Amino acid sequence: MDHFLYRDGSLYAEDVPLTEIAAEVGTPFYVYSTATLLRHFRLFDEALEGTDHLVCYAMKAASNQAILKTLAQAGAGMDVVSEGEYLRAKAAGVPGERIVFSGVGKTGHEIRTALTGGIRQFNIESEPEMQVISAIASELGVIAPITIRVNPDVDAKTHAKIATGKSENKFGIPIARASEVYALAASLPGLEVIGIDVHIGSQLTELEPFELVYKKVAELTEQLRSEGHNIRRLDLGGGLGIPYARSNDAPPLPVEYGALIKRTVGHLGCEIEIEPGRLIAGNAGLMVSKVIYVKSGEGRDFLILDGAMNDLIRPAMYEAHHDIVPVIEPAPGAEQQPYDIVGPVCESGDTFAKQRNMPKLTAGDLVAFRSAGAYGAVMSSEYNTRPLIPEVLVHQDQFAVIRPRPTFDEMINRDTIPEWL
Ligand SMILES: *Cc1c(COP(=O)(O)O)cnc(C)c1O
Repeated sequence: MDHFLYRDGSLYAEDVPLTEIAAEVGTPFYVYSTATLLRHFRLFDEALEGTDHLVCYAMKAASNQAILKTLAQAGAGMDVVSEGEYLRAKAAGVPGERIVFSGVGKTGHEIRTALTGGIRQFNIESEPEMQVISAIASELGVIAPITIRVNPDVDAKTHAKIATGKSENKFGIPIARASEVYALAASLPGLEVIGIDVHIGSQLTELEPFELVYKKVAELTEQLRSEGHNIRRLDLGGGLGIPYARSNDAPPLPVEYGALIKRTVGHLGCEIEIEPGRLIAGNAGLMVSKVIYVKSGEGRDFLILDGAMNDLIRPAMYEAHHDIVPVIEPAPGAEQQPYDIVGPVCESGDTFAKQRNMPKLTAGDLVAFRSAGAYGAVMSSEYNTRPLIPEVLVHQDQFAVIRPRPTFDEMINRDTIPEWL
């Protein structure tokens, strides 16, 4: 459920008409709903009620500080995958003890920043990384709390580019080697082993892969405890999928996911962390764009929008589907026709949808891409020297620009010309 509904014939974000935002900030833009962000966070938080837990929002999904602050004030921790994300979370007011550092290639510099600024835990992904964290922690005279990310070799049944839990993926250490790697961790200075981490992929639409993995984690917990490790925290990753197409079967709900967690690892008495990103932000954001031209091609009509693949890359990168709806509600029974919906970038890949049935649209009409809140703005670029599009946050009847559109001067003046030219 989200808070983007038609009212009086026009699409609203909470109590603000999108036409009003478009008039003020111009198109294209991203818009997020505070109520939807909070609703999704609370669904996870409530699903784990009764167990000691922390929901660490995977901020790579949508990392604007206004979003982070909204969630942090509701009690969320953060899962970060880079120094930049760590610093951004801190800037948004999230204390280090609520920040988990994930990622397969943390550099010495990144590790140092987190150890100096405070960190809840590092999720370690390899032995060389473990050696570096140990060395830096020892040098700083601090103890780094760590989990080790295990790769359970389970098929997440999702798009290949976002599956992370198979043995051929670069993530984690093979679960079969866990004993050996935990023993190494226990022997190194500057580290305190506190738990186990897994994350098998994103946009999972079934619970079965989670069930397989969490059972393996439960077994591993008991094994590692019997080997003398004080396993007291389980980071179970993120990955729960969202319904991108309204017509499809709905993925499992957070409450079902929470029940699964309690059923599979609840008996271990561990503190539970989860790292949802997409489910919190995905349906809490839209991208709003304007039709520039309607072009009649050979046997098909193109809707050419002012938004493009550089603004929302998911269709080009993952063949992702986004529902695209007109901002002005079509009359009931209004005539529909198929369009190829494309952006202005000079690549055929800049196609959002092919032969999508839409009500008849004309130049100047606004359309909204649903489910664009996660992996949307954060993956945008300035390809074709197109400015990063603004982000807007709505809270009831208020809205604020939370990242302005840069001017062309700002963009162009970032280049520097060498002296010899
Ligand atoms: C990307 C990622 C997540 C979030 O995945 P979602 O599918 O957005 O929930 C969580 N943990 C780690 C380690 C990740 O890399």
